[in-house]
Amino acid sequence: MTISRTTAVVVAANGLTAVIAAALLMLVLWQAPRRRMNLLFALTMLILLGYCVANIFGRFIAELGLDPAQTTYVAVSLFGYFTISMFVFSSEFAHERTLTTEIMGFGGMICGLGYIAAMWSDQVMVDIHPTSDPGSYQGRWTALGNTASMILAAYMIASAFVIFRMKDPRARALSLAPVLALAGIISSVVIWPLIHIPLQAMFLAASALVLGRPVLRDQLFNPLAMLNQQLADKNAELSRASSMKSQFLTDISHELRTPLNSIIGYTELVMGGMYGALNDIQGDRLEKVVRNGQTLLKLVNDAIDLNRIETGQLTLERRLVIVPEVLNTVLDTIEPLAVNKGLAIRRDFGAIPPIYVDEVRLRQIVTNLVANAIKFTHKGSVTVRASAISGDVRLEVVDTGIGIPADQFDTIFQEFRQVDDSSTREYEGSGLGLTITRRLVELHGGRIWLESAVGQGSTFFISLPAKAPEEPAAAVISSAAA
Ligand code: ADP
Repeated sequence: MTISRTTAVVVAANGLTAVIAAALLMLVLWQAPRRRMNLLFALTMLILLGYCVANIFGRFIAELGLDPAQTTYVAVSLFGYFTISMFVFSSEFAHERTLTTEIMGFGGMICGLGYIAAMWSDQVMVDIHPTSDPGSYQGRWTALGNTASMILAAYMIASAFVIFRMKDPRARALSLAPVLALAGIISSVVIWPLIHIPLQAMFLAASALVLGRPVLRDQLFNPLAMLNQQLADKNAELSRASSMKSQFLTDISHELRTPLNSIIGYTELVMGGMYGALNDIQGDRLEKVVRNGQTLLKLVNDAIDLNRIETGQLTLERRLVIVPEVLNTVLDTIEPLAVNKGLAIRRDFGAIPPIYVDEVRLRQIVTNLVANAIKFTHKGSVTVRASAISGDVRLEVVDTGIGIPADQFDTIFQEFRQVDDSSTREYEGSGLGLTITRRLVELHGGRIWLESAVGQGSTFFISLPAKAPEEPAAAVISSAAA
């Protein structure tokens, strides 16, 4: 088999372009993260690779026993789709999704299919025959073929224009790719008949490099960008998982609350003697049922609260509140718990101006802190102080209890974290109270911190801004515990 000089040049030029496309394709597929943009780039390179291979095969039609018309159709179709795919990739790269880009992307693909169908029914190019140059074939464009070619050229100009005008400035350089592809077509029409140099393949290689440059730079050779991308992907995955978790938690918590309330309610009725007298053992066991039921209900309510806060569904209903009044209400309710343990409750309230807070949430904050102080104190007292300090209201809950090691000051504010994490721990609790308390304080624009010494006691401090908030009062959200 003798290979003409023209065939050798065509094979070399298309071979080089094919190698560039294949190299870019493999680099991106194996090295870059799996993202729509990278996959679109890989597809564009695959189409270009196919086009170059079809061109090479086109020089050996007789030797390979191919159909000259079909080989030409395949090459022309691949070229059309290369230009469309190039545009779709560019708009994905620029994150540009407008009506224009959608029409040019989808519209281009549909028109491309119509074009292929017309070509296969011999309405685009006819009379494909060998020329005097061995291995070379030539056909005649029909009127439809000429029109389609003009439309394709217009599409490439429009692509360049639209890509150049995209909002992302990085996309601007990509507009050179369709210009180069168009220059390739023009060279194949104007220059090829004069001197048989396949400039088109070179132009296409250049346009592949223009498209590949930002992909290589951002996705492959910039480890930071790659890392950022991986982090962003991971984040998106995590936030999807987290929102699914939140939804699950909301659903399950509400489902749990109703039967729990019913269990507690009916047990209390039985305990109250409504269905007949109980002996001591029965009374004692039912009391345990109620106590455990209430612990479980508190856990469920805490979980609902925390979930609301984390998903941004909890808004504060702020109004002017007289803090000592709230503190007294809380302490009056909770005092019996302290008295039962032989603890003294002390109140030390200074002159405090009314402040804008959500009263229900303030009560929840103070209740959590005082309940903890009582729970973790065996002798001595629990003191609640309130004062106004440089424009803020300062609350202090002081106990003489077991204290907290300094290395646990941060962890106790984390979800489900307790100083004694063992399964045999002495104190009941969910480990959510302080997490919720801190979030509620922060929602108010305040701060919570503590001082403590093991064996001597702890003091939890809260500072709440006394100034009226600038934002309008938010929608009313009923207390989860209500
Ligand atoms: P819990 O439901 O376990 O009390 P919290 O989030 O309210 O959950 O508190 C977390 C942990 O912080 C507690 O388990 C306890 O170890 C520690 N803690 C909180 N308040 C005090 C306190 N006043 N004295 C000693 N330890 C405390």
